[in-house]
Amino acid sequence: MKFAAADGERIEATPGAKGECPGCGAEMVARCGTQRVWHWAHRGRRHCDHWWENETQWHRDWKNHFPADWQEITARDEHGELHIADIKTDKDLVVEFQHSFLNREEAQKRTQFHNPMFWVVDATRRATDAPNFIEALEYARHHPTPDGMVYEVNMRAARLLKEWVTVGVIVAFDFGTDDVWVLRRVHGDWVLGFFYPKAKVVAHISEGTVLPDILYGKLPVRRPLARGWKRVGQRF
Ligand SMILES: [Zn+2]
Repeated sequence: MKFAAADGERIEATPGAKGECPGCGAEMVARCGTQRVWHWAHRGRRHCDHWWENETQWHRDWKNHFPADWQEITARDEHGELHIADIKTDKDLVVEFQHSFLNREEAQKRTQFHNPMFWVVDATRRATDAPNFIEALEYARHHPTPDGMVYEVNMRAARLLKEWVTVGVIVAFDFGTDDVWVLRRVHGDWVLGFFYPKAKVVAHISEGTVLPDILYGKLPVRRPLARGWKRVGQRF
């Protein structure tokens, strides 16, 4: 974790620093090596949040776009199980940055827990994902709009889409460039999305404003897209 609690403050890991887990109160050790980003680890035990994944520089880069007091926010479910949100804004929107593979059921469970939320997925983890995704976009239906191209992609055409299409909230795929690809809407087997600057995604999260939508946009549809919108359960 990036933060531990010490003397009522949230402090970052530095060599020799001491702190407690803001979630469970356990003693933490500052791990300040060269292999991984400096972080706090629970002393001699597993992480209290079993959803927690080891942080990468990618996680940190995203988190660092936001105020420290929005980062690593603890919540408990109705069974008292503890989970720590990567980002929770002052408007109670949760953003999770996901690097490692997450199966659909797990992704849905976490979405329900954190809702309202959206996901940012590290799409560079598997080398084949970017070429696979780009190929899927080539075969997609292209809808030019005044605001840019909207892609209507068959979810089976891209592994990332297959994995994430069922969460029912916005997913931003980060291919390591200045733009993310925003999975904005789903109808049946089709996913609608667009490239969007990362900086603007950060601004929307920071300001609590909604990302551009497709449903109310000027998408020049060639066939009715209305059916199916409702069941997406779009919550953001
Ligand atoms: Zn803990």
